[in-house]
Amino acid sequence: MVKEVKFFDYPIQFKELSHAYLRILENVLESGCYILGPAVEEFENKFAEYVGAKYAIGVGNGTDAILLALYSAGVGRGDEVVTVSHTFVATVEAIKFVGAKPVFVDIAEDHNMDVEQVKHALTKRTKAVIPVQLNGRVCSGMEYLRDITEKYGIILIEDAAQAIGAKYKGKFAGTFGLAGCFSFYPAKVLGAFGDAGAIVTDDERIAKKLRKIRNHGRNSNGNVVALGMNSRLDSLHAAVLTYKLSMLDNSIKRRREIARMYHEGLSDLPCLKLPPPPVDKSDHYDVYQNYEIEAESRDSLKKYCDKRGVETALPWGGKGVHQFRSLGFYKVKLPRTENFFKEALMLPIYPQLTNEQVEYVIETIREFYL
Ligand SMILES: *Cc1c(COP(=O)(O)O)cnc(C)c1O
Repeated sequence: MVKEVKFFDYPIQFKELSHAYLRILENVLESGCYILGPAVEEFENKFAEYVGAKYAIGVGNGTDAILLALYSAGVGRGDEVVTVSHTFVATVEAIKFVGAKPVFVDIAEDHNMDVEQVKHALTKRTKAVIPVQLNGRVCSGMEYLRDITEKYGIILIEDAAQAIGAKYKGKFAGTFGLAGCFSFYPAKVLGAFGDAGAIVTDDERIAKKLRKIRNHGRNSNGNVVALGMNSRLDSLHAAVLTYKLSMLDNSIKRRREIARMYHEGLSDLPCLKLPPPPVDKSDHYDVYQNYEIEAESRDSLKKYCDKRGVETALPWGGKGVHQFRSLGFYKVKLPRTENFFKEALMLPIYPQLTNEQVEYVIETIREFYL
């Protein structure tokens, strides 16, 4: 009998394959090559190949990935960057820390950027647009975004931190614009045992620039040729990620199975709005980084779930970025984003969940409403 379902289980990731991981770590530790080197190169090559990009550049984390992508594309002071407020604060931090100004647009039905609104947000100062491929789903308007950014000479950069392996019309998240930014935070679909990230691009010039900037602006001779920073992907993480990448398709399949179970078990409840279900012949191939629902009486439902041992979570503590008063965006009005956060709730979803646990979550939610 299931009594407890954790929102995310960190140690289980290690425990289920501990011997393999220890061997991988031992190899790197014995090699003495801890910064950059063959383990990082191997992962970068395999990762680029996996998403169908020419280059992948491993960096310290997903936030740096966005920051470095913006910086290397020349986005900076006086520029505006259009993005969403329904995202992790990291997207906005990256924009602010290169000196640019975030401009927010509202979300669409599927919780991703409403691209119809982008046109109205463009000004002479708009330098980049960052759609966030949230919850493991590629924004439906990517073709439109590509057209409009090309037409106006605007840079398209994807925050694909939650969308490794997700596809739209067969094309991988992160490969639609100049650069795609990924996070390998431990709870992400492809997670390391610590902070890690990567940028993918087809642009050789940007790739070269990124390789320098992540490593103190040094070229391969060790000469400092630009001002950079320290944001390298650790060799230990890279070696673990290469191994995990080889199992990624299976873990995505399992996430989709769980999403299907949630959909079948909950879609008849009128008090809930569920994310689009996984459909085999669809434009979207979603990887379900999160299973984000909208629920009537959300706070009571959450309490009920807690009592029954089912951990749920509010996305980012229950607020869009513009709603954190201390950040100074409180004049921004985004009705759909704000309404969404009143009812938003995330259910546990990770490959190690058993069917019994998923059924228990479904049962618990049904009990609450029926
Ligand atoms: C996780 C995440 C990031 C940042 O990644 P870190 O590796 O934690 O820096 C950025 N954007 C989104 C949407 C994320 O979910």
